[in-house]
Amino acid sequence: MAQEELECSFCGKQKADTNLLIAGLDAHICDRCIEQAHGIVAEESKHQDKALTSDLMLKKPQEIKAFLDGYVIGQDQTKKVMAVAVYNHYKRLLQPSSEDDIEIQKSNIIMVGQTGTGKTLMAKTIAKMLNVPLAIVDATVMTEAGYVGEDVESMLTRLLQAADYNQEKAERGIVFIDEIDKIARKSDNPSITRDVSGEGVQQALLKLLEGTVVNVPPKGGRKHPDQKFVEVNTENILFIAGGAFDGIERHISKRLNMAAIGYKSVQEGEKIDTQNLLQYITPKDLKDFGLIPEIIGRLPVLTHMNPLDEATLRAILTEPKNALTKQYIKLFDMDNIALSFKDEALDFIVQKAVEYKLGARGLRSLCEEVLTDAMFNLPGSNETQLVVDKAYVQKHLSRTRLKQLKAVS
Ligand code: ADP
Repeated sequence: MAQEELECSFCGKQKADTNLLIAGLDAHICDRCIEQAHGIVAEESKHQDKALTSDLMLKKPQEIKAFLDGYVIGQDQTKKVMAVAVYNHYKRLLQPSSEDDIEIQKSNIIMVGQTGTGKTLMAKTIAKMLNVPLAIVDATVMTEAGYVGEDVESMLTRLLQAADYNQEKAERGIVFIDEIDKIARKSDNPSITRDVSGEGVQQALLKLLEGTVVNVPPKGGRKHPDQKFVEVNTENILFIAGGAFDGIERHISKRLNMAAIGYKSVQEGEKIDTQNLLQYITPKDLKDFGLIPEIIGRLPVLTHMNPLDEATLRAILTEPKNALTKQYIKLFDMDNIALSFKDEALDFIVQKAVEYKLGARGLRSLCEEVLTDAMFNLPGSNETQLVVDKAYVQKHLSRTRLKQLKAVS
């Protein structure tokens, strides 16, 4: 075909009438048709995204809980509460707008529980199940705009990044705000006139939690002043806050005792489990701790994590879908080495985790300690099997190392 006869195989335009004509194997396409096709593809993927949201609906609270069970051990009450909150959140997303005047409010969640009890894991697992982007942010690094530290909006930068800069995906994502307790008002220090990292941050958070449109710098921070901002609407973003709230038990027990004296909320004869006071937590305790009422109101779903007992730690080693022991077995298997653990060995590891107060996070360090030599020596050797029994663990866990582990945990 002569050069001047070339035309777009889609719209028939002559080459001279186009800005660009791209050749394929047997056909040509002009710039206009490319743009149009791109529009169709974008539209189509939007539909798919919508379909994704309706897929979410297929998961009922009981199914959500069952999914969580695969990864998080225990914490049944919190799993139930989370399952319902997440279900309602996505129901809210799907509600046709303005059919009636009933507007379903957001169900942002606040989880109170000691560090290492699975708060982050819970948020991660939910994001994994829903296939939505998740940003894990730390409230301690946040300050009011203008102060040294990160602006509160930076959490949306993280979410955008987690969503590969797909704004629509980000707007349906989850933000997990860790250590929310660290921004409590420090009421016992009246000399602080400007509470840079406390109440001011809480105020800045309010609008985000409720739902607002924020101009987000996609690269984050103040280091890239020239970047184009992306508008992110936080209305459908689910916020999950977590914190240890060290010392909140004092407020709870005070309230419970007062109620007992006044014969109010504690039913007669009901025994208070003083070992786990968190289970009685109410929004009032959060307020007494130093969260402002407006924040508490915007995190309406309050739940607690139980401390991990020995049986739970033991189960964490073997039961979750990606349990530690399963991970090591897989790692060894890749070198054709059959790794197995005797029950007595696992019991011993758990005992040490409890004795040295290492918690669930410590289990990983302990296993690493026990298996490092083997992971170094066995690949490339003639060994095809490693049975870890109690003696093996004892040999590899020296008391000094345990003390060091305790120091870092
Ligand atoms: P938190 O956010 O409460 O400080 P994490 O969720 O980060 O705690 O938990 C730390 C690690 O401990 C997790 O990676 C996980 O392996 C383990 N873990 C903690 N609690 C549980 C649990 N209930 N079930 C399974 N694993 C857990």
